[in-house]
Amino acid sequence: MRVAVVSDIHSNLAAFEAVTADFVDVDEVWCLGDVVGYGPDPNECIDHLRSFDHCCIAGNHDWAAIGRIGTEDFNPDAQAAAEWTAQQLAPANWRFLEDLPTKLERNGFTLAHGSPRDPIWEYIIYSSAAEASLDHFTTAYCFVGHTHVPVIFSCAATARTCATLDPSYERPFPLGNQRLIINPGSVGQPRDGVADARYVVLDLDRRTFTHRRVAYDIAKTQRKMQQASLPARLWMRLSYGW
Ligand code: ZN
Repeated sequence: MRVAVVSDIHSNLAAFEAVTADFVDVDEVWCLGDVVGYGPDPNECIDHLRSFDHCCIAGNHDWAAIGRIGTEDFNPDAQAAAEWTAQQLAPANWRFLEDLPTKLERNGFTLAHGSPRDPIWEYIIYSSAAEASLDHFTTAYCFVGHTHVPVIFSCAATARTCATLDPSYERPFPLGNQRLIINPGSVGQPRDGVADARYVVLDLDRRTFTHRRVAYDIAKTQRKMQQASLPARLWMRLSYGW
């Protein structure tokens, strides 16, 4: 079975469609949350996700859009986008976001938006946070999103230390005896200085995963954001992947 692991789509349909056009023999989509927020296409992104065999967990922007959490910790641009998103959501898509769990286990992988310890809010940026997460999931492997930065934390099963590895976009990474915390990066708002959409292909038969990088029509999303009067900083940053 082959699985596409996507995260932080952030209402960017052009990016999400470029990613799904890149799929080869994908049987399921696992989504790590933040389907909405920031971008211009919240309903279209949820509809597109639901057109695949999929599972999905909640991110902080999903909960902000439906008012389950306040936006006082968001910056003003993210707050404005959350309010705009709330006004756009079709009732069925509102319910879809309401029903998202915060954590899932699937085929030996734990899925959490931020971290398995604090799925909605915690960022796993450094190996110290990865190491602190190890007691909070029981599977060997865990996928997280939230930082929008593709990375692999490879953690010795007994020593409880994690090495931080940059993903290779060419070579499949083997699922071995180490525990792994894997971030596929963001589909709709990359933040590592490269503007391409990112995701991961997981091959459960070969026991490998591969990070993927896909160019998309950034200007198309930016035009829609301008038309919707979403904050300028939010569409400008897409050009730089930041
Ligand atoms: Zn996000």
